[in-house]
Amino acid sequence: MSIRKKLILTCDTEALEFPIKVDSFYRNIFGKVFSGDSQCGGIEIMMEICDRFSVKINFFYDVFTEYSRHGANHDVAECILGNGHHMSLHAHIEHLPDLWWHQRGYKKPTWAANYFDDTAATYVYEDAVKLFKKAAGFQPLAFRAGSWRYCRQTLNAVWSAGIKYSFNYYPLSAIRSSFPHGPDAGILNAFQWSNGLIEVPTTCVRGPTVFSNNQKYVGFEAQIFTKGIDYIQYLKILENNHPEIDTIVFVLHSWSFMNRIDGVYATYSEEKANAFTSFIESTVDKYDFVDLNFNLPFSHDPEHMMHVPIEFAGEGGSPLQRL
Ligand SMILES: [Zn+2]
Repeated sequence: MSIRKKLILTCDTEALEFPIKVDSFYRNIFGKVFSGDSQCGGIEIMMEICDRFSVKINFFYDVFTEYSRHGANHDVAECILGNGHHMSLHAHIEHLPDLWWHQRGYKKPTWAANYFDDTAATYVYEDAVKLFKKAAGFQPLAFRAGSWRYCRQTLNAVWSAGIKYSFNYYPLSAIRSSFPHGPDAGILNAFQWSNGLIEVPTTCVRGPTVFSNNQKYVGFEAQIFTKGIDYIQYLKILENNHPEIDTIVFVLHSWSFMNRIDGVYATYSEEKANAFTSFIESTVDKYDFVDLNFNLPFSHDPEHMMHVPIEFAGEGGSPLQRL
Protein backbone atom coordinates (compact mmCIF):
# COMPACT_ATOMS: atom_id res chain seq x y z
CA MET A 1 0.00 0.00 0.00
CA SER A 2 1.48 3.33 -0.96
CA ILE A 3 1.61 6.04 1.66
CA ARG A 4 -0.29 9.17 0.69
CA LYS A 5 1.73 12.33 0.45
CA LYS A 6 1.16 15.25 2.77
CA LEU A 7 0.01 18.59 1.50
CA ILE A 8 0.46 21.57 3.80
CA LEU A 9 -1.72 24.46 2.74
CA THR A 10 -0.19 27.67 4.09
CA CYS A 11 -1.25 31.31 3.86
CA ASP A 12 0.73 34.37 4.93
CA THR A 13 -1.32 37.28 6.27
CA GLU A 14 0.22 40.29 4.59
CA ALA A 15 -0.12 44.01 5.14
CA LEU A 16 2.41 44.97 2.45
CA GLU A 17 2.46 48.79 2.63
CA PHE A 18 4.96 50.51 4.90
CA PRO A 19 3.66 52.29 6.83
CA ILE A 20 0.31 50.54 6.66
CA LYS A 21 -2.84 52.49 5.94
CA VAL A 22 -6.06 51.37 7.61
CA ASP A 23 -7.73 50.64 4.29
CA SER A 24 -4.89 48.59 2.86
CA PHE A 25 -4.61 46.55 6.06
CA TYR A 26 -8.23 45.37 5.80
CA ARG A 27 -8.04 45.06 2.03
CA ASN A 28 -4.88 42.94 1.96
CA ILE A 29 -5.91 40.60 4.77
CA PHE A 30 -9.71 40.50 4.75
CA GLY A 31 -10.31 41.51 1.14
CA LYS A 32 -12.46 44.43 2.23
CA VAL A 33 -12.03 47.89 0.76
CA PHE A 34 -13.16 49.37 4.09
CA SER A 35 -13.33 47.63 7.45
CA GLY A 36 -17.15 47.75 7.51
CA ASP A 37 -17.60 46.33 4.00
CA SER A 38 -19.32 43.03 3.53
CA GLN A 39 -17.26 42.26 0.42
CA CYS A 40 -14.75 39.67 1.45
CA GLY A 41 -12.03 38.23 -0.73
CA GLY A 42 -9.44 37.57 1.94
CA ILE A 43 -8.78 34.97 4.60
CA GLU A 44 -12.46 34.44 5.53
CA ILE A 45 -13.47 33.17 2.09
CA MET A 46 -10.34 30.97 2.01
CA MET A 47 -11.34 29.32 5.29
CA GLU A 48 -14.96 29.02 4.18
CA ILE A 49 -13.94 27.17 1.00
CA CYS A 50 -11.59 24.85 2.90
CA ASP A 51 -14.22 24.14 5.56
CA ARG A 52 -16.48 22.73 2.85
CA PHE A 53 -13.85 20.02 2.32
CA SER A 54 -12.76 19.68 5.97
CA VAL A 55 -9.33 21.01 5.06
CA LYS A 56 -7.38 23.39 7.32
CA ILE A 57 -5.24 26.34 6.34
CA ASN A 58 -2.02 26.89 8.28
CA PHE A 59 -1.75 30.65 8.52
CA PHE A 60 1.49 32.50 9.09
CA TYR A 61 0.42 35.56 11.02
CA ASP A 62 2.49 38.74 10.60
CA VAL A 63 3.08 40.02 14.15
CA PHE A 64 4.99 43.27 13.64
CA THR A 65 2.01 45.05 12.07
CA GLU A 66 1.07 45.50 15.74
CA TYR A 67 3.45 48.49 15.88
CA SER A 68 1.48 50.45 13.31
CA ARG A 69 -1.98 48.93 13.63
CA HIS A 70 -2.15 48.91 17.44
CA GLY A 71 -4.41 45.98 18.11
CA ALA A 72 -6.13 45.77 14.72
CA ASN A 73 -4.08 42.71 13.86
CA HIS A 74 -5.73 40.94 16.80
CA ASP A 75 -8.84 40.95 14.55
CA VAL A 76 -6.82 38.72 12.24
CA ALA A 77 -5.83 36.32 15.03
CA GLU A 78 -9.42 36.11 16.28
CA CYS A 79 -10.69 35.43 12.78
CA ILE A 80 -8.22 32.57 12.16
CA LEU A 81 -8.53 30.95 15.57
CA GLY A 82 -12.28 31.55 15.84
CA ASN A 83 -12.71 29.57 12.61
CA GLY A 84 -10.57 26.71 13.90
CA HIS A 85 -7.61 27.07 11.53
CA HIS A 86 -3.96 26.99 12.54
CA MET A 87 -1.82 30.05 13.25
CA SER A 88 1.97 30.17 13.26
CA LEU A 89 4.44 33.03 13.12
CA HIS A 90 5.23 35.34 10.20
CA ALA A 91 7.37 38.41 10.82
CA HIS A 92 8.09 41.23 8.37
CA ILE A 93 10.80 43.29 10.06
CA GLU A 94 9.89 46.21 7.77
CA HIS A 95 7.13 47.00 10.30
CA LEU A 96 9.54 47.52 13.20
CA PRO A 97 9.74 51.30 13.76
CA ASP A 98 12.98 53.35 14.03
CA LEU A 99 12.42 53.79 17.76
CA TRP A 100 12.27 50.04 18.33
CA TRP A 101 15.77 49.70 16.85
CA HIS A 102 17.17 52.81 18.54
CA GLN A 103 16.10 51.52 21.96
CA ARG A 104 18.21 48.44 21.30
CA GLY A 105 21.25 50.33 20.03
CA TYR A 106 20.80 49.76 16.30
CA LYS A 107 20.02 51.88 13.28
CA LYS A 108 16.89 50.59 11.55
CA PRO A 109 18.17 48.09 8.98
CA THR A 110 16.70 47.25 5.60
CA TRP A 111 14.10 44.54 5.26
CA ALA A 112 16.81 41.92 5.10
CA ALA A 113 16.52 39.66 8.15
CA ASN A 114 19.11 37.41 6.49
CA TYR A 115 21.71 40.01 7.59
CA PHE A 116 21.02 39.78 11.33
CA ASP A 117 23.74 39.20 13.88
CA ASP A 118 23.02 37.02 16.95
CA THR A 119 21.98 39.90 19.19
CA ALA A 120 19.61 41.52 16.69
CA ALA A 121 18.11 38.13 15.81
CA THR A 122 17.46 37.41 19.50
CA TYR A 123 15.82 40.82 20.06
CA VAL A 124 13.61 40.47 17.00
CA TYR A 125 12.37 36.91 17.46
CA GLU A 126 11.91 37.12 21.23
CA ASP A 127 9.67 40.12 20.60
CA ALA A 128 7.93 38.35 17.70
CA VAL A 129 7.07 35.35 19.91
CA LYS A 130 5.92 37.67 22.73
CA LEU A 131 3.57 39.53 20.35
CA PHE A 132 2.33 36.25 18.91
CA LYS A 133 1.50 34.84 22.35
CA LYS A 134 -0.32 38.05 23.25
CA ALA A 135 -2.52 37.73 20.15
CA ALA A 136 -2.95 33.94 20.08
CA GLY A 137 -2.59 32.85 23.69
CA PHE A 138 -0.14 30.06 22.86
CA GLN A 139 3.44 29.47 21.72
CA PRO A 140 3.93 29.44 17.92
CA LEU A 141 4.90 26.05 16.55
CA ALA A 142 6.30 27.14 13.19
CA PHE A 143 7.86 30.20 11.57
CA ARG A 144 8.19 31.71 8.10
CA ALA A 145 10.19 34.92 7.76
CA GLY A 146 9.06 37.84 5.64
CA SER A 147 9.94 36.84 2.06
CA TRP A 148 11.67 33.68 3.35
CA ARG A 149 14.73 35.69 4.50
CA TYR A 150 16.84 33.80 7.00
CA CYS A 151 20.37 32.99 8.11
CA ARG A 152 22.08 30.92 10.83
CA GLN A 153 21.52 33.64 13.41
CA THR A 154 17.76 33.90 12.85
CA LEU A 155 17.27 30.12 12.83
CA ASN A 156 19.15 29.88 16.14
CA ALA A 157 17.06 32.72 17.60
CA VAL A 158 13.70 31.17 16.68
CA TRP A 159 14.81 27.80 18.07
CA SER A 160 15.83 29.50 21.34
CA ALA A 161 12.43 31.22 21.39
CA GLY A 162 10.74 27.79 21.40
CA ILE A 163 9.80 27.37 17.73
CA LYS A 164 10.10 23.82 16.40
CA TYR A 165 9.52 24.12 12.64
CA SER A 166 11.00 26.47 10.05
CA PHE A 167 9.20 26.99 6.72
CA ASN A 168 12.00 29.07 5.22
CA TYR A 169 14.05 26.88 2.88
CA TYR A 170 13.06 27.90 -0.65
CA PRO A 171 15.81 27.50 -3.25
CA LEU A 172 13.98 29.97 -5.48
CA SER A 173 14.88 32.72 -2.99
CA ALA A 174 18.59 31.89 -3.33
CA ILE A 175 18.55 32.81 -7.01
CA ARG A 176 16.32 35.91 -6.92
CA SER A 177 18.09 38.85 -8.50
CA SER A 178 16.38 41.34 -6.16
CA PHE A 179 17.30 39.77 -2.83
CA PRO A 180 19.21 36.52 -3.16
CA HIS A 181 19.60 34.71 0.15
CA GLY A 182 19.63 31.27 1.66
CA PRO A 183 21.30 28.21 0.15
CA ASP A 184 20.35 26.56 -3.12
CA ALA A 185 20.78 22.86 -2.44
CA GLY A 186 18.08 21.82 -4.87
CA ILE A 187 14.64 20.44 -4.15
CA LEU A 188 14.60 18.78 -0.74
CA ASN A 189 12.28 16.94 1.59
CA ALA A 190 11.92 18.04 5.20
CA PHE A 191 15.25 17.97 7.03
CA GLN A 192 16.67 18.85 10.43
CA TRP A 193 19.11 21.68 11.07
CA SER A 194 21.91 20.78 13.48
CA ASN A 195 20.43 23.09 16.17
CA GLY A 196 17.30 20.87 16.30
CA LEU A 197 14.92 22.95 14.17
CA ILE A 198 13.03 20.94 11.55
CA GLU A 199 12.93 22.60 8.14
CA VAL A 200 9.90 22.11 5.92
CA PRO A 201 10.84 23.39 2.44
CA THR A 202 8.45 25.35 0.28
CA THR A 203 7.83 23.13 -2.73
CA CYS A 204 9.53 23.86 -6.05
CA VAL A 205 9.80 22.06 -9.36
CA ARG A 206 12.89 22.39 -11.47
CA GLY A 207 12.49 24.25 -14.78
CA PRO A 208 12.05 24.48 -17.60
CA THR A 209 8.44 23.36 -17.34
CA VAL A 210 5.23 24.30 -19.09
CA PHE A 211 5.08 27.16 -16.60
CA SER A 212 8.41 28.70 -17.48
CA ASN A 213 11.09 28.20 -20.12
CA ASN A 214 13.83 30.12 -18.42
CA GLN A 215 13.44 29.80 -14.66
CA LYS A 216 15.56 27.32 -12.76
CA TYR A 217 12.74 26.76 -10.27
CA VAL A 218 8.99 27.33 -10.24
CA GLY A 219 7.62 27.65 -6.72
CA PHE A 220 4.31 26.20 -5.50
CA GLU A 221 3.06 29.63 -4.58
CA ALA A 222 0.14 31.86 -5.50
CA GLN A 223 0.68 35.57 -5.10
CA ILE A 224 -2.59 35.81 -7.02
CA PHE A 225 -4.52 32.59 -7.58
CA THR A 226 -4.88 32.63 -11.36
CA LYS A 227 -5.16 30.09 -14.06
CA GLY A 228 -1.77 31.31 -15.32
CA ILE A 229 -0.41 28.38 -13.37
CA ASP A 230 -2.61 25.34 -13.29
CA TYR A 231 -1.90 24.13 -9.76
CA ILE A 232 -3.35 20.68 -10.46
CA GLN A 233 -0.97 20.23 -13.39
CA TYR A 234 1.85 21.54 -11.17
CA LEU A 235 1.26 18.61 -8.81
CA LYS A 236 1.45 16.18 -11.72
CA ILE A 237 4.80 17.64 -12.80
CA LEU A 238 6.02 17.42 -9.20
CA GLU A 239 4.97 13.78 -9.05
CA ASN A 240 6.70 12.96 -12.35
CA ASN A 241 9.92 14.91 -11.85
CA HIS A 242 10.33 14.70 -8.07
CA PRO A 243 8.53 11.56 -6.86
CA GLU A 244 10.72 11.53 -3.73
CA ILE A 245 9.06 14.67 -2.32
CA ASP A 246 6.58 13.40 0.28
CA THR A 247 5.67 16.66 2.04
CA ILE A 248 4.33 19.36 -0.27
CA VAL A 249 4.04 22.97 0.89
CA PHE A 250 1.74 25.34 -0.98
CA VAL A 251 1.86 29.09 -0.26
CA LEU A 252 -1.10 31.42 -0.55
CA HIS A 253 -1.13 35.06 0.48
CA SER A 254 -4.09 36.72 2.14
CA TRP A 255 -4.67 38.78 -1.05
CA SER A 256 -4.54 35.81 -3.43
CA PHE A 257 -8.22 36.15 -4.44
CA MET A 258 -7.99 39.89 -5.15
CA ASN A 259 -7.57 41.79 -8.40
CA ARG A 260 -4.67 44.20 -8.41
CA ILE A 261 -5.62 47.59 -9.84
CA ASP A 262 -3.26 50.59 -9.97
CA GLY A 263 -0.76 48.88 -7.69
CA VAL A 264 -3.20 47.88 -4.93
CA TYR A 265 -5.28 44.79 -4.24
CA ALA A 266 -8.60 46.44 -4.97
CA THR A 267 -11.49 44.06 -5.72
CA TYR A 268 -12.51 40.55 -4.85
CA SER A 269 -12.37 38.05 -7.72
CA GLU A 270 -14.95 35.30 -7.53
CA GLU A 271 -13.21 33.62 -10.46
CA LYS A 272 -10.02 33.20 -8.41
CA ALA A 273 -11.96 31.83 -5.45
CA ASN A 274 -13.74 29.38 -7.76
CA ALA A 275 -10.42 28.24 -9.23
CA PHE A 276 -9.15 27.63 -5.69
CA THR A 277 -12.30 25.64 -4.88
CA SER A 278 -11.66 23.42 -7.93
CA PHE A 279 -8.06 22.94 -6.85
CA ILE A 280 -9.06 21.79 -3.35
CA GLU A 281 -11.90 19.64 -4.69
CA SER A 282 -9.58 17.77 -7.05
CA THR A 283 -6.78 17.24 -4.52
CA VAL A 284 -8.64 16.54 -1.29
CA ASP A 285 -8.94 12.80 -1.93
CA LYS A 286 -5.38 12.38 -3.20
CA TYR A 287 -3.37 13.93 -0.37
CA ASP A 288 -3.35 14.06 3.40
CA PHE A 289 -3.91 17.73 4.14
CA VAL A 290 -1.93 18.60 7.26
CA ASP A 291 -3.38 20.57 10.17
CA LEU A 292 -0.48 21.95 12.20
CA ASN A 293 -2.80 22.17 15.21
CA PHE A 294 -1.89 18.51 15.58
CA ASN A 295 1.82 18.94 14.81
CA LEU A 296 3.50 17.77 11.69
CA PRO A 297 2.91 14.04 11.24
CA PHE A 298 6.06 13.06 9.37
CA SER A 299 6.12 9.50 8.17
CA HIS A 300 9.72 9.31 9.33
CA ASP A 301 10.98 10.61 12.63
CA PRO A 302 13.75 13.26 12.80
CA GLU A 303 16.43 10.61 13.37
CA HIS A 304 15.85 9.40 9.82
CA MET A 305 15.82 12.84 8.27
CA MET A 306 18.73 14.46 6.52
CA HIS A 307 20.74 16.50 9.02
CA VAL A 308 22.19 19.80 7.85
CA PRO A 309 24.77 21.95 9.68
CA ILE A 310 23.18 25.24 10.76
CA GLU A 311 26.09 27.14 9.15
CA PHE A 312 24.70 26.07 5.79
CA ALA A 313 21.79 28.52 6.32
CA GLY A 314 24.19 31.39 5.61
CA GLU A 315 25.85 34.04 7.73
CA GLY A 316 24.27 37.36 8.68
CA GLY A 317 25.83 40.14 10.61
CA SER A 318 27.60 42.62 8.44
CA PRO A 319 25.17 45.37 7.41
CA LEU A 320 23.49 45.88 10.79
CA GLN A 321 24.85 49.14 12.14
CA ARG A 322 25.19 50.03 15.80
CA LEU A 323 24.18 53.55 16.78
ZN1 LIG B 1 4.90 38.03 4.03
